[in-house]
Amino acid sequence: MEKIKIGSHVGMAGKEMFLASVKEAEAYGANVLMLYTGAPQNTRRKEIEELNIEAGWEYAKKAGIEEIVVHAPYIINLANTVKPEIFELATEFLQKEIHRTAAMRSKILVLHPGSHLNEGVEVGIAQVVKGLNFVLDNNDDDVYIALETMAGKGSELGRTFEELKMIYDGVHKKERLRVCFDTCHVNDAGYNLVGDYEGVMQKFDEVIGLEQIAVLHINDSLNSCGAHKDRHANIGEGQIGFETLQKIVHDERFKEVPKILETPWRCAEGSDKKTIPPYKEEIARLKGF
Ligand code: FE
Ligand code: FE
Ligand code: ZN
Repeated sequence: MEKIKIGSHVGMAGKEMFLASVKEAEAYGANVLMLYTGAPQNTRRKEIEELNIEAGWEYAKKAGIEEIVVHAPYIINLANTVKPEIFELATEFLQKEIHRTAAMRSKILVLHPGSHLNEGVEVGIAQVVKGLNFVLDNNDDDVYIALETMAGKGSELGRTFEELKMIYDGVHKKERLRVCFDTCHVNDAGYNLVGDYEGVMQKFDEVIGLEQIAVLHINDSLNSCGAHKDRHANIGEGQIGFETLQKIVHDERFKEVPKILETPWRCAEGSDKKTIPPYKEEIARLKGF
């Protein structure tokens, strides 16, 4: 049987913290997982000692979970040139988040490149590069920063492969960079994954190199190719569709790459509260052929 590294985004809270994350992933039939070290929308974080890392890993090994991915909070904006104090906070936080990622024994920290806030792509990217150099020049943790491909909502950077390449070009320690390829974002950015899967992969290979993909975010999209929206849909229920998502999950070139679902939770019948995680079913369906 083909072994696929697949899992989803999971929570990390309560008393059990990381142990709870691992149990949640196990319940989904996952062998990898991704988590935020705290709320994604703020930078309040618990001490490393409170994350329950040892107990989590002990359980993980028995559950067949060998790898985890950490996602940096999406409010970190390294591209901010408007408010210097925000840029400073972002670099400081990133430095700590890299340490936390290493302490959690994850090699990958996913990072949204940032938003240029109407200052333009060049200015924004120069600032991201400055921030990454500031952090990485003084850091030796065994952690990659995986820059996420973005949908291009608002002034988001990383909407084209070339923009990510520009970041690589400016960063001194390029060997510390990788890419997190998000199918919903790539579709929304205008790459025709559905009609020309090979063409998109070839393009990525030419600009950055497929071997740089360290994480795949497997999401369907509510919106059409090029919409620049970023609204995730459940697998097979969006504009990308099951076939294309299954193709990428089973692509031999990404055999070693963790595949992480970030699809929306479902509502119970008669309720409009999202209380049901879709991951167990979606993982099983994507694994099968
Ligand atoms: Fe993300
Ligand atoms: Fe994503
Ligand atoms: Zn997204």
